Amino acid sequence: MSGTQSSDSSAANRALNVIDPHSPLLPSDEMVLPTLQGDGKRRWLNPALAKGKYWQRRRFLAYALIAFFVTLPHLRIGGKPIVLIDIVAREFTFFGHTFYPTDTDLLLLLLLSVFFTVMFITAVGGRLWCGWGCPQTVYLEFLFRPIDRIFAGTAGKGGKPKKSLNTLLQTARFIVYLICSLFLAHTFLSYFVGTDRLAQWMQMTPKQHPMAFGVMAAATFGLMYNFMFFREQLCMVACPYGRFQSVMLDRKSLIVTYDIHRGEPRHKGKSVQGAQGDCINCGHCTAVCPTGIDIRNGLQMECIHCTQCIDACDDVMRRIKKPEGLIRYSSQDALDGKTHSWLRARTLIYPMLILTTATLFLVMLSTKFSFDAKIIPSPGVPYTVLASRTLQNNFRVRLTNRTSIMEKYTIEMLEPATAVVHWSDVQPELGPNESKLLPIVITAPVGLTAGKGNIKAVAKITDSASNSRLVTFRMSGP
Ligand code: SF4
Ligand code: SF4
Repeated sequence: MSGTQSSDSSAANRALNVIDPHSPLLPSDEMVLPTLQGDGKRRWLNPALAKGKYWQRRRFLAYALIAFFVTLPHLRIGGKPIVLIDIVAREFTFFGHTFYPTDTDLLLLLLLSVFFTVMFITAVGGRLWCGWGCPQTVYLEFLFRPIDRIFAGTAGKGGKPKKSLNTLLQTARFIVYLICSLFLAHTFLSYFVGTDRLAQWMQMTPKQHPMAFGVMAAATFGLMYNFMFFREQLCMVACPYGRFQSVMLDRKSLIVTYDIHRGEPRHKGKSVQGAQGDCINCGHCTAVCPTGIDIRNGLQMECIHCTQCIDACDDVMRRIKKPEGLIRYSSQDALDGKTHSWLRARTLIYPMLILTTATLFLVMLSTKFSFDAKIIPSPGVPYTVLASRTLQNNFRVRLTNRTSIMEKYTIEMLEPATAVVHWSDVQPELGPNESKLLPIVITAPVGLTAGKGNIKAVAKITDSASNSRLVTFRMSGP
């Protein structure tokens, strides 16, 4: 990770790296983590709020995303949910299409398309996802921190809330957190079990569905713990994306950055025109930072690009009658006065990869059969020669109905032409997305396999809508 260090960044680090004056430990020279004090204790953050133009836009988007997240599991296409990740049944439904673990080719293409899209967005726009779309940021900054502000007031520059909460207010805040976490946990679970099953479970006692209740309780506890205590630590120590960004960004990527050439040398108090930079060292940009860093120390892994420091600094600039944008969206090259171009190898290669994988995915999806069929030998004796000099092979057909309606299936032998096949049971009928293992019996003249041991066989399976599949397998004989 490259970074432009300001002349007194180590002093700023030491200021953040506070330590109890009575502690026998010596303060470390360097800040290891912005939320770690010199004596190893956590530095609890209580960021102030800058209500600038970026915050207004992020708030609008955040509430739209929350509404989308809550509504999505209730929406359906052709009777199927738009999204359902049914891990127990090993079925994944996206936009009305159900995928099975056997669809590894399709799932791989889908995942690759998403992966290349993330890489492309990061190469062009830096951590746009972290600051604007990630559920952790959206819920923490636009649901749980506003709850804190209702109970404790808005934090000032020093990061202290206006009031300290008495037990009653703390309990009330805890209950509000619990209600929100319960709601979120139920919404989250509906992506995995569907809204209909969730509604049924909610009308039962925990004893009637202990597993689901356990998952719900764990999800609620996890959300409570995350949004009450873990907070920014998730972005800083648990999320792998922050770590990956150093390889996905380059010097032309759009990032939230401090204009060191314009801001330095920073100074306190009134500026002497021309002698000093525009940064008046007011500390507003650090007071609003939800990860506790100082943007003036350059590009840092902890920066989630939330734009709060832009809003805070623009406000200061307006008040001291300087142009906005001392902290702004820019690239490292643009800050160094180099020409900025969107066109470069990675911004051309990533879209081509996205186009290729997405096209392949859509083509394979549209040509996907309405059912899957595979013929496998039955366990036990591979063949039997009947008294009538007839060769008999027993097989099983693994049949999966991929449609959303009931289907009936027929089977006939194409090769060898003298072979006859029939279902061991009645003609099979499969419900929507149902999968069954069905026994079949194939008979043929006994001389068919003479001298070979086994021969190639082809069966044709047809569904009620006359869609057919040819399935190849091998018949055994003497
Ligand atoms: S808010 Fe702006 S002026 Fe104040 S310290 Fe930060 S960069 Fe400097
Ligand atoms: S440095 Fe600025 S953009 Fe980065 S996390 Fe802190 S406030 Fe947000």
